[in-house]
Parts: sequence; C-alpha cells; structure tokens
Amino acid sequence: MTRAINTFWVPALLRLALLCVVPSLIGLYFGWPVGVATLSLLLAMQVALQLWSVYRIEQWLDHPIAGAAPKVRGVWSQVFARLENIRREDQRSRAEMAEWLARFRQAMSMLPDGVVILDHVMHLEWCNPAAQRHLGLDLSRDEGRLVTNLIRSPDFVDYVILGRFEQPLAFVHRGRKIMVQLIPFESRRQIVVTHDVSQSEQIDTMRRDFIANASHELRTPLTVINGFLEHALSSTMDDATRDGQLKLMAEQGQRMQRLVEDMMTLTRLESLDHPPAHDPVEVDSLLTHLVEEARALSAGRHRIDLRAARAGLKGNRDELESAFANLLSNAVRYTSDGGRIDVVWELTEAGARLAVKDSGIGIAAEHLGRLTERFYRVDKTRSRATQGTGLGLAIVKRVLLRHHGRLTITSERGVGSTFSAVFPRTQLVLPDS
Ligand code: ADP
Repeated sequence: MTRAINTFWVPALLRLALLCVVPSLIGLYFGWPVGVATLSLLLAMQVALQLWSVYRIEQWLDHPIAGAAPKVRGVWSQVFARLENIRREDQRSRAEMAEWLARFRQAMSMLPDGVVILDHVMHLEWCNPAAQRHLGLDLSRDEGRLVTNLIRSPDFVDYVILGRFEQPLAFVHRGRKIMVQLIPFESRRQIVVTHDVSQSEQIDTMRRDFIANASHELRTPLTVINGFLEHALSSTMDDATRDGQLKLMAEQGQRMQRLVEDMMTLTRLESLDHPPAHDPVEVDSLLTHLVEEARALSAGRHRIDLRAARAGLKGNRDELESAFANLLSNAVRYTSDGGRIDVVWELTEAGARLAVKDSGIGIAAEHLGRLTERFYRVDKTRSRATQGTGLGLAIVKRVLLRHHGRLTITSERGVGSTFSAVFPRTQLVLPDS
C-alpha cells in the first residue's frame, strides 16, 4: 500500500497540483479568462497524452513481441513496465514449457512401450514411435481419427466399447501379440499403453516345449530301467539274462546322461551372463584331434580325410570343439559303411569355412530348415540307435552364433550332406607370414 502511495499517488497528485497551480498563477497575473483558457489547454493536452498512451498500449499489446515496451511518461510508464515484466515472465515460462515438452517427447519416443493419447471422444491426439509400430499407426496420417477405426480388431473394439479398463487386453494385431491397457486421465481423456509380448510368448512356448520334450526323452530310458528292475526283483533269472538286462540298463543310463549333458551345454550356451571368450584357437590342430576321434567312432567303416588351412579362430576352444565334434560325429552316424567323409577348413573371401561333407543318407529338403530345432530328428530310430540326443545341431547353431558364424546345410537324399560352419574375417587369427 505504502509502495502504491509513493509510486503512483504522490507523482499523480503532484502532476495534478502542477496542472492547477500554473493556470491559477497565469489567471492571477493576466486575469481569469486567460487562466481558464490555460487550464483548458493543459487539460486538453493531458487528455491527448492519456489517449496517445492508451493507443500505444493497445498497439504494443497487439504486437508484444515486436520489441520492448515503448517509453512513455507519467503513470503509464509503470503500467508499461509491469506489462513488460508479465510478458517476459510469460515468454520464459513458454520457453520452459516448450523445452520440457520436447524433452518429454524425446523420452517418450525412446520408451520400448507404446503410449497413445486419445481425446474425450476417443480420437487420436498423439502417440510415440513404439505405439506406431505396435498398432500400425502413423501420427501424421491418423491424428484426429477415431481409434476404433484405426485398430479394427474385434477384441480391441469390444474392449474400448465395454470400457472395462481395470484389466489389460492381449490381442493379436498384424501378426504380433500386443498387450494394451486404457488409463483414463484428466477428466475425459485416455492414455493407451501398449506392450509387444510376442517375443516373451515365443520364449515361454519354447521353454514349455523344451521341458515337455526333455521329459519325454528322459521318460523312455527311465521306463526301460524301471521295467528291468521290477522284473529282476519279482523273478529269478539266469546269469546270462541278468547280464543282458544289466547291459541294456547301462545303455539307457548312458543315454540319459548324454541327454542331461547336452541339455546343460545348451542352457549354459544360452545364458546371457556367460559371454564367449576371445582366446586364439588353433583350428587345424583341433580338427586333427577331432578327426582321430571320428575315425575311432567309425572303427574303419568310413574313409575320413582332413584338409586344413593354417588359420585360427578367436573364441572358446571347448565350445568350438563341441560344435565341430557334433558335425563330425553326425557325418559318421548318418553315413553307411564304406562311405566317405571330407573335412575341409579353408579360407574364403569373406572369412573362413569348415565344411564337413559326407556321402551318407542325406536329408530331404523339407527338413533342412528345422534341423537346428531342439529334439528335431528326421529319422528318430537311427538317431537313437546311434546314440543321438536330438540336441547336437542346436548346440552347433548356438556356438556358431556366439562366434559370429552361421551354419549352412546342403543335402540330397541318398547322395550325402555338407554341413558348413562359416565365420567372418573378423573372427580369424592368421599366422604371421
Ligand atoms: P541327433 O542327436 O539326432 O543326431 P542332431 O541335432 O545332431 O541330433 O541332428 C538332428 C537331425 O539332423 C538328426 O536326427 C538327423 O536326422 C539329421 N542329421 C544331422 N546330421 C546329418 C547328416 N550328416 N546326414 C544326415 N542327416 C543328418
């Protein structure tokens, strides 16, 4: 209040007093008609000045950004100063708001989950890139359109119409499984949060299948062992029969052990907290050793030749050994007696390649794409008879992936197969020449 008296009333009253004193003095000196005329003139000037100031305020309010407040005298100068402050304050909060909005949008665009904002009549107002991907939206094209016209899945339309938003909805949209939840906000707006669950669903299914397959694989040898044990307990048998059954039980026990070992190898390879090593591995000497093992497995039934370039790989020796051993043992197991197996480790333009070529039973084209699936076998009887677990190629694929390589398979039924492990140049360790 005191401030208002000092800054507004005192100068205003002083000016008014001056306006009255000057004509009074002139009136005293020159007579009252001159005094009245002077007063009228001064009042007219004052009114004109006020009008001019009001006009300038109006002009400035129309174009406030054009510059600072115009310089005026009298009480208007304070009004202008105050307006100018309000305008500056407003500009600053607008700039802060714009910056905050830009940051918010950037954060939203980096979210892996989708966010869609709908207005009070369910029209699309805004959405982030993840929501565009999940729901097939295009903000520049779809803004302002009714959401149920954009996403026509009956499940989604029912969800929106029935308005049971306490629960999320999972529905299939353009081949992907999407989880959405509508959250009402402000008075009548809605936020839709979307999450692509296709991959986790796929992993869950794979896990369930793996457990089901593994249980199935283990059940057969367990049933055999239990059957023999029950038989042995309930009846007397001669030594030859007992020996025969013990031998069969031992075989089934070994089969279970191989299965468990392969499952553990796969699990270890797939665990994320177990990155591949980058030690130099001498592939030629590793292959020499593995070919000797394959010859032992073949027991002279096949001709096995090795041709290896002097090049190594960066990686984990145990993992590579397990992958290459699987390829070689498959070649022996799926090649009839008298067949040929050629193992070639060679440099290529893109890097290097290990090719294991056999003249075995071959594989029909329709199976080729599925061979690396866990427990997938073309011929179950032959696989089991030759001590296969159905996990060998799944292990090979995993090891190669971890070494930035890939597996290619060419095969013809009755002619033979070539399994190739292909590595990029970046994985090679070349001898100093
Ligand atoms: P398995 O333990 O049954 O051999 P793998 O994962 O190693 O399992 O191989 C999967 C299937 O691929 C095998 O069951 C077999 O049908 C086929 N296969 C693998 N290698 C060969 C090969 N060299 N020749 C023919 N078929 C093969």
